[in-house]
Amino acid sequence: MRAAVVEAVGGGFTVQDVDVDRPAGREVLVEVRASGLCHTDLTLATHGLGRLTPPVVLGHEIAGVVVDVGPGATEFAVGDHVVGCLVQWCGDCPACLDGRSHQCLRPGATLRDPGRQGPRLSRAGRPVTQGMGLGGFAERALVHENQLTAVPRRLPFTSAALLGCGVLTGVGSVLNGARVRAGETVAVIGVGGVGLNAVGGAVVAGAARIVAVDVAADRLRRAREFGATDVVDATGTDPVAAVRELTGGGVRHAFDVVGTAATTRQALDMTALGGGVHVVGLAAAGGELTLSLPRLLLQQKRIQGLIMGAGNPRRDIPRYADLCLRGLLNLDGLVSRRIALHEIDAGYAALADPGVARVVVTSF
Ligand SMILES: [Zn+2]
Ligand SMILES: [Zn+2]
Repeated sequence: MRAAVVEAVGGGFTVQDVDVDRPAGREVLVEVRASGLCHTDLTLATHGLGRLTPPVVLGHEIAGVVVDVGPGATEFAVGDHVVGCLVQWCGDCPACLDGRSHQCLRPGATLRDPGRQGPRLSRAGRPVTQGMGLGGFAERALVHENQLTAVPRRLPFTSAALLGCGVLTGVGSVLNGARVRAGETVAVIGVGGVGLNAVGGAVVAGAARIVAVDVAADRLRRAREFGATDVVDATGTDPVAAVRELTGGGVRHAFDVVGTAATTRQALDMTALGGGVHVVGLAAAGGELTLSLPRLLLQQKRIQGLIMGAGNPRRDIPRYADLCLRGLLNLDGLVSRRIALHEIDAGYAALADPGVARVVVTSF
């Protein structure tokens, strides 16, 4: 099959022939119909692959059709429409049994044992690493069934693909992580693909005020279309003062989708007494935050990091698909551009343009 391979950090994505094995055990073979470009894959491909040994096939925001199932797979049949998710969960550790599949203690249980089995992907007989158990920048993805969720056939593939990462993360951070309630006030710092979904989640939750903070006018304009009641352009204004003034002293929930020390500090300072700071994004450089313990205690604030929207994919993806089909969650508006598999480098370059929200590979 054709796959976009990263040969080395900084070397970009090049389309090559890669062999994909037949499904074993509980694996499912998916014909990929849409594969979203998430910033995390770009960070891996340009800043360091971490534990992934190149060559590697990235791409973890996928939707497609089941074309084959392994002898032990029980949850899917050929023809099912499915969404992939990078959350790897075993199903029987204490966290999984508690519904916290994003905190699974044995995520590797869904992967092949290299000591006993050959690789899922290979090239000329040598293994090709599959990013996050998915490897979605390819014609086909061989995936453990736990990493898949069935979605209704009438949901377009491009919208469905976004459910697996951007939507799960953005909407889930609001509904699961922060548990925003009707009438509460929310600020979202950084309204790119994930931030827009946080805005959309706040609308679903019934938030009274939703303040979008960003440094790009195009992104703020789009945030209004997604339901932000107010926008703050942080290039010319102090966002903390602006949010505090707009909301009469600060918001109940501030989401930092950028993930730098400076933006998390802003989030902390723009929350009202008793407010919550929810760190959703992580900038490539990382950062450190210094906290005043007396202020934290006296202002009764909480701060939490959220991975994948504190999501349980099997519970949440069908919920968000349903909200989309009922017109309550705007996924179509997230897709700015559809590209072919060989255009991933250009697609990521396009994401630097604030006018572009999400780019999706739809031609393989
Ligand atoms: Zn992602
Ligand atoms: Zn588990």
